[in-house]
Amino acid sequence: MYYHKILVIGGGLAGLRAAIESAPRVDTAIISQVHPVRSHSGAAQGGVNASLANNPQGADDTWEKHGFDTIKGSDYLADQDAAELMTKEAPGCIYEIEHWGCPFSRTDVGKIAQRPFGGAGYPRTCFAADKTGLYMLHTLWERSVKLNVPLYEDRVLVDLVLEGDSCRGVICWNLKTGELEPFMAEAVIFASGGSGQIYGRSTNALISSGSALAAAFRRGVPLKDMEFIQFHPTSLLGTNILMTEGARGEGGYLINSLGERFMSKYAPKAMELGPRDIVSRSIQTEINEGRGIDGKDYVYLDLRHLGREKILERLPGIRDLAINFVGVDPIEKPVPIQPGQHYTMGGIDTDIHGATKFKGLFAAGECACVSVHGANRLGGNSLLDTVVFGKISGRVAADFVLAKKDQKQGEAAIMKCMRETKERIDGLLARNGTENHADIRTEMKETMFLKVGIFRTKSLMDEALAKIKELKERYKAITVQNKGKGYNVDLIRALELEGMLDVAEAITIGALKREESRGAHSRLDFKDRDDLKFLKHTIATYTPFGPVITYSPVDVSKYKPEARRY
Ligand SMILES: Cc1cc2nc3c(=O)[nH]c(=O)nc-3n(C[C@H](O)[C@H](O)[C@H](O)COP(=O)(O)OP(=O)(O)OC[C@H]3O[C@@H](n4cnc5c(N)ncnc54)[C@H](O)[C@@H]3O)c2cc1C
Repeated sequence: MYYHKILVIGGGLAGLRAAIESAPRVDTAIISQVHPVRSHSGAAQGGVNASLANNPQGADDTWEKHGFDTIKGSDYLADQDAAELMTKEAPGCIYEIEHWGCPFSRTDVGKIAQRPFGGAGYPRTCFAADKTGLYMLHTLWERSVKLNVPLYEDRVLVDLVLEGDSCRGVICWNLKTGELEPFMAEAVIFASGGSGQIYGRSTNALISSGSALAAAFRRGVPLKDMEFIQFHPTSLLGTNILMTEGARGEGGYLINSLGERFMSKYAPKAMELGPRDIVSRSIQTEINEGRGIDGKDYVYLDLRHLGREKILERLPGIRDLAINFVGVDPIEKPVPIQPGQHYTMGGIDTDIHGATKFKGLFAAGECACVSVHGANRLGGNSLLDTVVFGKISGRVAADFVLAKKDQKQGEAAIMKCMRETKERIDGLLARNGTENHADIRTEMKETMFLKVGIFRTKSLMDEALAKIKELKERYKAITVQNKGKGYNVDLIRALELEGMLDVAEAITIGALKREESRGAHSRLDFKDRDDLKFLKHTIATYTPFGPVITYSPVDVSKYKPEARRY
C-alpha cells in the first residue's frame, strides 16, 4: 500500500499549484493519468484574468470591478464571497507565477501585457501569446520538480475510499502494469479537470472525461450545478479545436452568410466580446435561421483586418491550427467556426476553501464547483480559478493534516474498496455482450450536444434522459475486446464511460428541474431568469436509481441580482 499525507489527483494547473503549496509543509504526492505537462491546461490559449491595470485602457481596474464582472457574468449564480476571494487573490497569484519564470507577453515598458476578453469591456486578461496555459503549466511543473514532489503518472483513479464522513485514500489502475494499486492518505485533493468529453463537439482533450469526478460521485460525493455547461462561440468547424476568445479580444469579427457583423443585434455594446453564453446563442440563432455560411452550421471568424504582423505576433498558435485543420490561413481568409462544448461550470461541491463535506477531501480547478463561475464563466477566469483555489486548497489541506490526531487510519476500508474494484473490473473483462462501448459513447455525446445543448426544452431533455437510461442498460452488455494488462485503453475507455453516463444523467436531470434560463442554461420553454424560484445551487447526489436533486443557497450578500445587458 502506498502512503502519503496528501494525495493530489491530477497534474494540471490546479493540481500542481495545490502540491506546490502543501509539499513544503506536508508530504505530498501527485497522481496523474497523463504526464502533468500533457494535461488539458496546456491547451489554454487566450489568457488569465487579474486586475493588474497595466493597460492604459484599464488603468483604473480594481479587484472589486473584476469581482463584480465575474458575478454579473455568472448571471448571479456565483457565490459572491468566493468570486471576490478569487479576484482579490488574482494579482498576487499572477505575480507569483511570473516570478517563478512564466514568460508572459509584455507591454512596451516591460509590464505583463493584458488583452480584452468578454465581460470586462477593457483589457484585463494577462497572456503569453496564445499559449498561456502551456507556459503556466510548464512553469508550475518545473516548480514541482524543484520541490521534489513525487509523481505517480500513468495512474487512473478508479475509486475513492470513504469511511463514514472521512476520506481514507484512493484506488488507482496502473496503466503500465495493468494492476490495481491502493493509496492511503490523510487528505486527498481532487484536481482532475473538466468532463467535456461527455458532449459531442467538445474543445476538451480526450483526458477530460470526468472519470475521477464520476468515481467520487458514485461514492456519495455531491456534485453542484452540473447543468451549467459552457459552449465556446468559436471552435473550428469539424474538429472543434478552440479558436481562442483572444482572437476577438484582438479585434476579430463574427460574420454571417450575408456578410453582417451580426453581434450588433444581440450585444450592441460589447459586440463580439459579449459573454460566451450570449455569443454562442447568437451564432446558433444565425445558423438556425439559415444565415450560416452556405446555409450550413457555421459562421466566419474574420481576422484579416488585423493584419499579418499582429496575427503573427499575438495569434500564431491559432493561425497554425486553422492552416493545419481547415486549410485556411486567417491572414488571407475568414475561418469557419461553430460553437462547441468548452467548460464544466459545475463540479464537486466545495466550500470557499475547496473543502467538501467529507473530512480530508478537497477539490480545486475545473472538477470543483466553489462556486465562482455560477451559470456562465468569463473567459480567462478558469486559469485564474486553478491557481487561486489550487493554492488555497493546498494550504487548507496541509493545515488539516497537521492538526489531524489519528493518522494512518482506514486500511480495512481501503482493502475492501480494492476488492470491490477488482470484482468490478474482472466482471467487466468477463462480459461477452453484443454492444460496442465506443458506439454507446458516440450516442451519448450526440445526445448531450443536441438535446441538452445550447438551447434546451423539456421535451428534448426528456428524450435525452430516456436515451441515457437506454445507454446505461446497453452498457451492461458491452464487451471489452482487449483482455491484456499493459496500456489497455479499451478497458479504460469502457470504465470511464460508465461514470460519464452517470454524470450525463446528473446534468440532464439538473437541467430539467431548473425551469428558467440563466447563463449557459437557456430554455426555450422558460425564457426568463427566475430568481424567486431558482437563485440556488443544484446539488446532485448519486443513488443506484439515478441522482437525487436538492438545492443549496447562493451567497448574494453584496450585489443584488439585476438583468444582464452587454
Ligand atoms: C482548448 C481550451 C482552451 C482554454 N483556454 C482558456 C483560457 O485561455 N483561459 C482560461 O482561463 N481558461 C481556458 N480554458 C479552461 C482551462 O484551461 C481549464 O479549465 C483548466 O486549465 C483546468 O485545469 P485543471 O488543473 O482543473 O485540470 P486539467 O488541466 O484538465 O488537468 C486534469 C488532470 O487530472 C488528471 N486526471 C483526470 N482524470 C484522472 C483520473 N481518473 N485519474 C488520475 N488522474 C486524472 C489528468 O491527468 C490531468 O493531469 C481552456 C480550456 C480548453 C479546453
